[in-house]
Amino acid sequence: MTQRKRIVAGNWKMNGSLELINQFAETIKTDLYPNVEVIFFPPSPLLSAMAGKGFNTGAQTVSEHDAGAFTGEVEAKLVRELGCKYTLIGHSERRTLFAESDAVLVKKFAKAQQVGLTPILCVGETESQRDADATEQTIATQLNAIIDKLGVACLQNSVIAYEPVWAIGTGKTATPEQAQSVHKFIRDLIASKDAQIAATLPILYGGSVNDSNSELLFAQPDIDGGLIGGASLKPDAFSTICASA
Ligand code: PEP
Repeated sequence: MTQRKRIVAGNWKMNGSLELINQFAETIKTDLYPNVEVIFFPPSPLLSAMAGKGFNTGAQTVSEHDAGAFTGEVEAKLVRELGCKYTLIGHSERRTLFAESDAVLVKKFAKAQQVGLTPILCVGETESQRDADATEQTIATQLNAIIDKLGVACLQNSVIAYEPVWAIGTGKTATPEQAQSVHKFIRDLIASKDAQIAATLPILYGGSVNDSNSELLFAQPDIDGGLIGGASLKPDAFSTICASA
């Protein structure tokens, strides 16, 4: 069986502080999880401080543009210069609250790779799409938007995060079986285009993961770790989640 990288990523969203970074530095010793890549996605102003404590870091989003007159935007190249290795692309909050379309996300994904960042592409269905039996179709559309424009080879250096929108921040986690079924769908879809890329691609689950449910989720054959929101702000809970990966 292919050994895939195990990843636990903490998305702080617009939360956190220098004080919280200090608390994490005291609690989370990443060398305790030698087989897990632990990555923090704090708000951009905290990236340097977080990296300064020796943590792997990533941005929550990057601009599709190069440096220029884009007030408030975050340049991908600068994020890379700060020592970040990753960026989230297409988190559901960016898709809905900031109207990021698949077309824009293709550009962000390409820009991230161009500057040497590994994109973590977030995909997932809303509750009404699941109820309408449109989960797989929704995810295929989101994935194919990238693959059709950039080619399947672009997934070689990337990570996928399956995050059902109905499970994000709601306390309603997908069951391990529900999550596994969608992860397998994602892997099969990619395998139909390139089996080797599909076999090595880390696919993370996100959506109300906590220190009580992570172990069963991460035990599924196609789940390679998690993207954690709320619980990534709690050092003890997050450390348990890292250990369970
Ligand atoms: C997220 O923001 O990516 C997320 C999964 O949040 P939560 O864990 O709080 O559901």
